[in-house]
Amino acid sequence: MSAAFLARVTDARLVLDRADELATHSARTDGIERTYLTAEHRAVNALAAKWMRQAGMRTWQDAAGNACGRLEGLRPGLPALLLGSHLDTVPDAGRYDGILGVLAAIAVVTRLREGELPFAVEVIAFGDEEGTRFGTTLLGSRAVAGTWQPEWADLTDPHGVTLREAARSFGLDVDDIGSAARRAEDLVGYLEVHIEQGPKLESAQQALGVVTGIAAARRLSVTIEGEARHCATPFGSRHDALVGASEAILAIEDIARARGSYATVGALRVEPGAVNVIPGLVEFSLDLRDETAEARDATLAEILERITALAADRGLAVRAEHTHVAPAVHCAPRLRDVVRAGIRATGERDPLELFSVAGHDAMAIAARTDVAMFFVRCAGGVSHHPDEAVTEADVAAAVDALHAAVLVLAEGGAGGGAGPAAAAVEPAEAAGAAAAAGTVGAAESGQRVLP
Ligand SMILES: [Zn+2]
Repeated sequence: MSAAFLARVTDARLVLDRADELATHSARTDGIERTYLTAEHRAVNALAAKWMRQAGMRTWQDAAGNACGRLEGLRPGLPALLLGSHLDTVPDAGRYDGILGVLAAIAVVTRLREGELPFAVEVIAFGDEEGTRFGTTLLGSRAVAGTWQPEWADLTDPHGVTLREAARSFGLDVDDIGSAARRAEDLVGYLEVHIEQGPKLESAQQALGVVTGIAAARRLSVTIEGEARHCATPFGSRHDALVGASEAILAIEDIARARGSYATVGALRVEPGAVNVIPGLVEFSLDLRDETAEARDATLAEILERITALAADRGLAVRAEHTHVAPAVHCAPRLRDVVRAGIRATGERDPLELFSVAGHDAMAIAARTDVAMFFVRCAGGVSHHPDEAVTEADVAAAVDALHAAVLVLAEGGAGGGAGPAAAAVEPAEAAGAAAAAGTVGAAESGQRVLP
């Protein structure tokens, strides 16, 4: 067994052991739940900072509660390559979503020496990506990207605690969060390692994949209105909103499946909701994602056309309101090349390229600098669940690939230097929204992003 092989296994084992240690910091005893600006957040920030210092980094906590570390390059003050992901979780989470990216980044820095690279290397452990506590996602990475919205100070958690109050008890001041924003000229780019949250790498029997971009997403609230009547009403005289909604939901699945989009109806409300009354009104959510805004909106246009026709056949009215929209984020070609080269260095000759259906910190950071991502195979593609699992061999490959990618970038092998980030995010959604709106009202909040 070679020394290099032993080093790889040791790094991967350390990453997995640290993930186990982070998992012990939870708001619940029966599983993992770690949310923004809580005691658990404080505890894992302290651990991450300790491990960053052991890797030779200078550490600090930024104004948004992100744990940060920096290793200087050839001389102090050079622009930094950011490596990172998040340490917060959904309720009853697994132990690798986000966490793996932070720990792999620290493991890579352990292999680097100060004064060695033509850029600084920073690791950021974002405090909020999932949005579990305040219902708005990517709070940590949006602060770093400089896209934090002042009105988020008034967001409340399920116990009525405002973000402003939570920040204060964490030792932060929301009015100062703007100082967490990084300047584009101080950044070389951002690389993130993340579990795939899908089964494609497993099917392809590959440990790692090159992420091409992050899906364009929309969320809508769809209302189908009929007439609430006594259940003695004959079928020919009914305008049953729930039967209409059921047809609509089946049509949504059919259309999205045929077009290769991802569509999910996850919440349903029925009025009046009585056993002996024909439903008069149904409201359901629709989450729609695809690789590009055009593809997503083409699917949406077909869905709205079909469900409007289905509803008309039953004498029902349809209204759809856009509640969230997020443009697609394209990983920068120069950094995708670096990611691909990093994976090739692990022996994979033809790495799988795939887009991310889920949102990630990278989509927020893309507003400020070029981004790219590695996906790591996870068992069954399962995530946001205690059954999340990765293998030690795959983690070893991820650390090796990220390390190799940093070195390739340092050699200028894939362009090097800071690049403009503006092209990473699709142009304003207005045109797409208008095209997709059709018969529906398009009231949307352009700043929202969806994990
Ligand atoms: Zn994540």
